[in-house]
Amino acid sequence: MSSVNRVALDDRVAKQIQLLNDARDGRLDKLDCPVCHEAAVSVWFTNPADETYRTWFLCGACDFCTRAQELERPHFFSDDRRRLDLEERDSEILKNSMFKDRRNERNERLRSAG
Ligand SMILES: [Zn+2]
Repeated sequence: MSSVNRVALDDRVAKQIQLLNDARDGRLDKLDCPVCHEAAVSVWFTNPADETYRTWFLCGACDFCTRAQELERPHFFSDDRRRLDLEERDSEILKNSMFKDRRNERNERLRSAG
C-alpha cells in the first residue's frame, strides 16, 4: 500500500471513530461524512436478535454507509431510531455467518480427514 493510500485510510478510520464517539455522546444527525465531507450522516440502530445491537451510519448526501457491532444496548437506542429494513439485513447477516461457521467446521473436518 502506498503511503498516500495509508494516510487516506487512517483518515477514514479516524473519521469513523469520530462518528462512533458522536453516536455515543448522543449526536445522531448532521455528522461529518468521511467520504463526501457533508454534515449529512445520521445514526440508526437495529436489534436483529436478543441482546444483539448494531449502530448504523448512513450519509444522506452520498452512499456512505457503515455499521458497528455493539456489545450492549446503545444508550440512545429507541424505536424512533430503529430501522427495520436494516434490521432485516442484519439478521440475514447473522444467519449467514452462523451458516458460514458451520460450513467452515465441515471443511475443517474434510481437510483433516483427507
Ligand atoms: Zn457522504
